Amino acid sequence: MGYKKTCFKCRKSFNRPIDFGSGREYPCPQCSKPMTLMTHRFRPPKKDDTKSWEVAEFLSEHGFIYQSIFETPSGGTHINYPTTKRAAKDFVIRYKEQSTNWPTSRTSICKTEKLQPQEIAKLLQSFEQILLDLSESGYEKKYFYKLVKELSNCLVQEVRPIQYISIERDVDSSEYNLYKEEMLQLIENYNNQRKTVFKTFLEYLELNQSSSFSEITKAMKTKGQYPKGKFDSWRFWQHGSDIEFRNSRTDEHINILMANKDSLNPDSLFTYIHSQSNLEGLTKVIAGKLKNLIRMLDLLVLDNRLIDIDNTLRMKIIQVNESLQITQDDQGMAPTSPLPIS
Ligand SMILES: [Zn+2]
Repeated sequence: MGYKKTCFKCRKSFNRPIDFGSGREYPCPQCSKPMTLMTHRFRPPKKDDTKSWEVAEFLSEHGFIYQSIFETPSGGTHINYPTTKRAAKDFVIRYKEQSTNWPTSRTSICKTEKLQPQEIAKLLQSFEQILLDLSESGYEKKYFYKLVKELSNCLVQEVRPIQYISIERDVDSSEYNLYKEEMLQLIENYNNQRKTVFKTFLEYLELNQSSSFSEITKAMKTKGQYPKGKFDSWRFWQHGSDIEFRNSRTDEHINILMANKDSLNPDSLFTYIHSQSNLEGLTKVIAGKLKNLIRMLDLLVLDNRLIDIDNTLRMKIIQVNESLQITQDDQGMAPTSPLPIS
């Protein structure tokens, strides 16, 4: 089996076969204390890197043995493990439902056809969660939003591009309506913040504002700041097709998807919300629950305040519906029409 027996006291890890699940204990050959089983994904730090060993031990105590962790328990983006104690503390709270310590009494069923809301509601009388694996048949996003709308006391979430939809029962989202405007305000702040930071970032790299992703990575390399670096109090790094920023003073996080700079990344928005202390009501409602934020965003798509953008990669890309935003140019101004040529 792909597990590593690890002794945090001696800071040693062994790649030997084990009888997983047998309850057998593996004493450390050096200190005889029982060792911890970590998945094969665990990369033991260098022996003298005590800080990294402490982080790994802290994570394993909280049920994170380098198993795969996703944005939500039902899927989403693959999340990298933290490398600092501070980030690890946030991590064990945010992803606690995916900890090996989390109770797994939930009953679930998987279906491979597009069930109608009433059929799903019926199944939810016997199961706590339904997973629709539509990776073979595919589905239109209209179908997904129909489920979001009609299964109002459930948590309906999708995993694109692999096309899974997960439905969990007994999720009260009635409070969300109270905070929709607050959420939109917060998204506006977030968008303003990232526009400013991204602009400054490009100036720092001595690039013009319409630079492409490859021009940016090239300039980062030239500056010796690739894949990560810093300017002012912002740390930045490239992550797949995104550039992420975190303020080391305020902990604010922002994310730019290079293919669509207006796209909202729920995970980044979630971190940003937690760094704001002036939004207590909303923060309280979604505290520690990324999936609640994702549901709120889906409800805002139903309200036409956010748009779910079609794209060839079938990724979920959500952005503000600009046509409903009042910009300064619109205020008190008649629509401009071209001047007649005399
Ligand atoms: Zn030992």
